[in-house]
Amino acid sequence: MCPGCDIAMAMLENAPNQPAPHSLTALAEEAARTPLIAGGGPDEPEDEPPLYTARRNVYPQRVSGTYRRVKWIVLCVTLGIYYLLPFVRWDRGPNAPGQAVLIDFPNRRFYFFFIEIWPQEFYYLTGLLILAAMALFLMNAVAGRLWCGYLCPQTVWTDLFQAIERWTEGDRREHLQRDRQPWTIDRIARAGTKHFLWLMIAWWTGGAWVLYFADAPTLVKDLATFQAPLVAYVFIGLLTFTTYALAGWMREQVCVYMCPWPRIQAALTDEYALNVTYRYDRGEPRASVKRAAALHEQGLPAGDCIDCLQCVHVCPTGVDIRGGPNLGCIQCGLCIDACDTVMQKIGRPARLIAYDTDINVKRRQQGEKPIYRIVRARTVLYAVIIAVVGIVMAYTLATRHSDAVSVLHDRNPLYVRLSDGSLRNAYTLRIINKSLEPKTYVLSMTGLPDADIDVIGSSSFAGSNPLIQIGPDQTREVRVLVTARDPIAPGASIPIVFSIVPKTDGDKTGGHKTDGYTASAGDHFFGP
Ligand code: SF4
Ligand code: SF4
Repeated sequence: MCPGCDIAMAMLENAPNQPAPHSLTALAEEAARTPLIAGGGPDEPEDEPPLYTARRNVYPQRVSGTYRRVKWIVLCVTLGIYYLLPFVRWDRGPNAPGQAVLIDFPNRRFYFFFIEIWPQEFYYLTGLLILAAMALFLMNAVAGRLWCGYLCPQTVWTDLFQAIERWTEGDRREHLQRDRQPWTIDRIARAGTKHFLWLMIAWWTGGAWVLYFADAPTLVKDLATFQAPLVAYVFIGLLTFTTYALAGWMREQVCVYMCPWPRIQAALTDEYALNVTYRYDRGEPRASVKRAAALHEQGLPAGDCIDCLQCVHVCPTGVDIRGGPNLGCIQCGLCIDACDTVMQKIGRPARLIAYDTDINVKRRQQGEKPIYRIVRARTVLYAVIIAVVGIVMAYTLATRHSDAVSVLHDRNPLYVRLSDGSLRNAYTLRIINKSLEPKTYVLSMTGLPDADIDVIGSSSFAGSNPLIQIGPDQTREVRVLVTARDPIAPGASIPIVFSIVPKTDGDKTGGHKTDGYTASAGDHFFGP
């Protein structure tokens, strides 16, 4: 079995909150003995773990330390960006929206600071998705579920909701005690305050989302005066409900039962990826400080774990990391902080729980030095793909032009013979002017000598070439007739190219080049 499958099986076996053996090898051996692996038939279903277990309340305890600080910073930065970004302004000149990040559905545009994406350029979205996927794979290959533990919206909002819960209902012990007591005015007031604050955050989360789809200050004013479109209120309501339900009530259930990423990442990982690991080589056998001292006096072994359960109490998903890999563990590192605090108090070295690998735990058990392999085939591959896709996207964005043309040949009829014997083909040209000023394009055609081109509805010419006017930031379709004076061989299909050149130069878009640029599109001229 490959290492990824080992870990995936171990996680599935342990999910959620089930005690498990300590090493991946032991897990694999145990898994191999189970009917699931050994091919147990349908006559043994009672041995299989249930697909769903009822949720038990988790009361995560307050904790402080390095990873908690990192999580606070990430939470503030990500939520700050999400809530405030719609209000950031960006001057694109007249006739263009002044919002830095805007998804403009009516005009079919996406604005991201100096970048403007048209519907025809949605391949950039594909590139962005590839970048996001590779970044996720790279994070996973380096340090497991970094995304889940620090950056996933479900984790970030749940973290915020749990902080509010601790603030209103008290820390773990106090909250547990209060939940066992009958409802009093104090308990109702605390719970009411908590749900009110949750709903306010959820409402503002939904509110911030719709601000990405219209001018934010205007929409805020319209929302406040009930003049905003109905769809805005509907989406705010939907997102208020989902945020409140997912972060307030469902929490770790989303990670264990709804999100596919834990399963995918377990299959993608390998034995060298760092994961939050209980170093059982150092921690076992568990014994209290007193008992450990007594055992040592008798010459018996005692590990550093004093079985205080602090690592379990701070866990936002209620996992005991000492049980080994677990689908419910989002790898947030809070158990590391909790255990470090305990170790500091009892005067033992920190990092009994740490970002480490099972290989290293085993190597230390055998008296060997741990090995860390951040640079390996898969991390290099992911990094190279990220670099290549990023460079290609940056290059194409930096060098793209504000003029574009595409062509479509009339299918019926394919050609028309005129009374003077000449042949005519008709085409539809779609010309795009992405700049913020009107432009006049000179249309030309190559590939068919001695042919006339006419644009229906246009009577201006530069020499014999038709002129086509397009407004700022607009697309226009024109019908073009190409008439061949020379005889065309029967069954001929002659390749031709239409080109447009802006008659006036100059560009004020701050992102597109037009000077001297010729946009072209090819098709065919058909004979009888
Ligand atoms: S916090 Fe550390 S010492 Fe306490 S139970 Fe967890 S691993 Fe053992
Ligand atoms: S076991 Fe540790 S790393 Fe995993 S979710 Fe719980 S606190 Fe976070």
